[in-house]
Amino acid sequence: MKILVLNSGSSSIKFKFFDDKVVKASGLIEKIGEQTSKVVLKNTLNDQKFERDDAIKDHEHGLQVLNELFKESGILEDLKVLDGCGHRIVHGGKTLTKHCLIDDRVLNEIDRVSVFAPLHNPAHLAGIKTMIKAAPNVPNVAVFDTAFHQTMPDYAYMYALPYEFYDKDSIRRYGFHGTSHAYVSSKAANLLGKSSVNVISAHLGNGASVCAVENGKSVDTSMGFTPLEGLIMGTRCGDMDPAIIPFISKARGLSIEEIDSLMNKKSGVYGICGYNDFRDIESRVEKGEDRARLAFDMFCYRLVKYIGAYLAVLPGTDGIIFTGGIGENSALVRQKVCERLSHLGIELDLNLNSQRISTERIVSTVNSKIKVCIIPTDEEFEIARVTEELVNKG
Ligand code: AMP
Repeated sequence: MKILVLNSGSSSIKFKFFDDKVVKASGLIEKIGEQTSKVVLKNTLNDQKFERDDAIKDHEHGLQVLNELFKESGILEDLKVLDGCGHRIVHGGKTLTKHCLIDDRVLNEIDRVSVFAPLHNPAHLAGIKTMIKAAPNVPNVAVFDTAFHQTMPDYAYMYALPYEFYDKDSIRRYGFHGTSHAYVSSKAANLLGKSSVNVISAHLGNGASVCAVENGKSVDTSMGFTPLEGLIMGTRCGDMDPAIIPFISKARGLSIEEIDSLMNKKSGVYGICGYNDFRDIESRVEKGEDRARLAFDMFCYRLVKYIGAYLAVLPGTDGIIFTGGIGENSALVRQKVCERLSHLGIELDLNLNSQRISTERIVSTVNSKIKVCIIPTDEEFEIARVTEELVNKG
C-alpha cells in the first residue's frame, strides 16, 4: 500500500512515503510563509535529492510543490494515487481516545481540543485540510500522541485538584510520545521473545518521557496535561513544586505567559548549563565544566527516580528500553542510569553498551534480572502501520 505520513507544524511539514512498508522518500517543507522557504524530497533508496526554493505561501502551496517533486522524482505519480495518508496529531483530548479515520466529526473535535495543544493541533488541522483538497478521495487517518496512554487507570491520570477541574475543564494527565512508546514496547516484546511484556520505556530526545507498560498497555507515563511534566528535558523543567510559579511571578514581576515560556524554552539542561544538545553537554563534562556535569547528573537522577517508581508500579518488569536521540546514542546516559539501578539486579554489559550500532539490541548481561534494550524509535513507521490497518478495516 502507498501511505504518506505527514507531521504538520505551523511553519513546516515533515513527510515520509511508504510503499508496501518500505520508505521510498522522506523530506521537509520548511519555513512556510517566508521568502526562504524550501521543499526537499529525498529518494531514500539512492539518496538522490529533489529541491525547490519557491516562496511557499501556505500549507496548501507546500503540498502542491511536494506533489510536483513526487512526480519529478518518479516515486509517486500523484498524491491522488495514495492508499492513505496518516497524520501525526499531538492531542486527542478526552474524546479522541483512539487512532481513527478522519471525517467531519473528527476534524471538529481536533479543532475543539486545540486549547490543549495550541501550538500543534491547529497546524495539524491545516495539514489535514490541505491533503483533503489535494487528494479528496484518499482516506486520512489521525494518529494521536495521547492515544496509547488512554489505558492509564483513573488514579494514575487524575490530578488532586478539585474534581470539577477534571469534569468541566478536562484537566487530567494525558501523556505524550504515545506512538513512540507503543512502537518500541511492541518491538521489545519481539526482542525479548514474549507475546506480551512489562517494560519501562524511556524516550529521551529533546522532549523526554518515561512510560510504564504492562502487558503491552500504558499504565503510567511521566508527561501529563502537557509535555512539560516529568523528566528534565532539553529546555523544559519537568516536575517542580507548583508553588514556585506564584513565587517567581511576585519576586520577578513575571506574567503567567512569561513563566510558561521560561519553563518550556529556557529551562531543563539548557537552563542549568547553557546547552541543550547532549553531545555538547557530554563534551563539556569531559572538559570538567561543572554546570554541564550538574545538568547531566540532574537529567540522569530524575530518570532513575521515574524508573524506580515504575519498577514499583509494574507487577514485574521484563525490560527497560532506551530510545530517542539521547536514549539511542548516549552510552554515558545509559551507563550512569543503569549503574544507579544495579542494586536491583540491573547489569549493563559495558562493551555492548558502548558499541555504535543503530539496530535494536539487548545491552545488559545475561545475568541481569531486568534486560536493558536499545530500540531506535520510528514514529512514522508506526503511523504508517496504523494508517494501513485502519484504511484496510474501512
Ligand atoms: P530527538 O529529539 O529524538 O531527535 O533527540 C535529540 C537529542 O538527541 C539532542 O539532545 C541530541 O543532542 C541527542 N543526541 C543525538 N545524537 C547524540 C549522541 N551521539 N550522543 C548524545 N546525544 C545525542
